[in-house]
Amino acid sequence: MVLMRVCPWCRRTEPWRRGCGCLPDPLDSPVLRTISGIDLAVAAHNYDEVIRRFVLAAKNGGRQDLLRRFGEQLAQVLAQATRFPDFRNGQRPTVVWVPASRGRRRRRGYDQGRLLARTVGRALGLPVRPLLVRTGSGAQEGRDRAERLAGPQLRCRVRHAPSHVVIIDDVITTGASLAAAADALRGAGTTAIMAVAVASSGSNGSNHALAGNAGLRQVSRLW
Ligand SMILES: [Zn+2]
Repeated sequence: MVLMRVCPWCRRTEPWRRGCGCLPDPLDSPVLRTISGIDLAVAAHNYDEVIRRFVLAAKNGGRQDLLRRFGEQLAQVLAQATRFPDFRNGQRPTVVWVPASRGRRRRRGYDQGRLLARTVGRALGLPVRPLLVRTGSGAQEGRDRAERLAGPQLRCRVRHAPSHVVIIDDVITTGASLAAAADALRGAGTTAIMAVAVASSGSNGSNHALAGNAGLRQVSRLW
């Protein structure tokens, strides 16, 4: 008799041992991005059709269970990149997230970044703090293209931010949100910033697939 189970991602029924293979292992194909103000930016996945489907289900389809699973993957990627708990100088980074606009938060009933960040913090025993807030009009969709490319306006809630911070985000597109977040944090005294995202959808050669774990370890020497 073959034991069956329901895949937690796509909800297809599959043999227990095999898994349905609908989602690649995040440690197989992490993606490296170069973003202003961020020492090391890594996404667990390329933003392909499969990942897109799951991300949209997690963000807009009420599948908060997927956010927690993605969060666990981000914890894996972060642990790999930093060889946690051996951060080079013994610093335990504080986990923060790029907050969703108030309109989106209200529509969904949750902030996907906050959920991801809390999962990462819990998995690795790291402090999670709501250090970033949006200023200005907020919602991305009501803004013109130039404003969207410039990213949201963010500020740091505290005058003295922790020295080492990990910013959690869902999908990196232009990188403008993360650059704005880094700017706000550095303005408050943060000196080392890493960003970990679920997926990267760089369209102009900004995605660099890393050669699996070895590549990630190599990159982590930067931080
Ligand atoms: Zn599946």
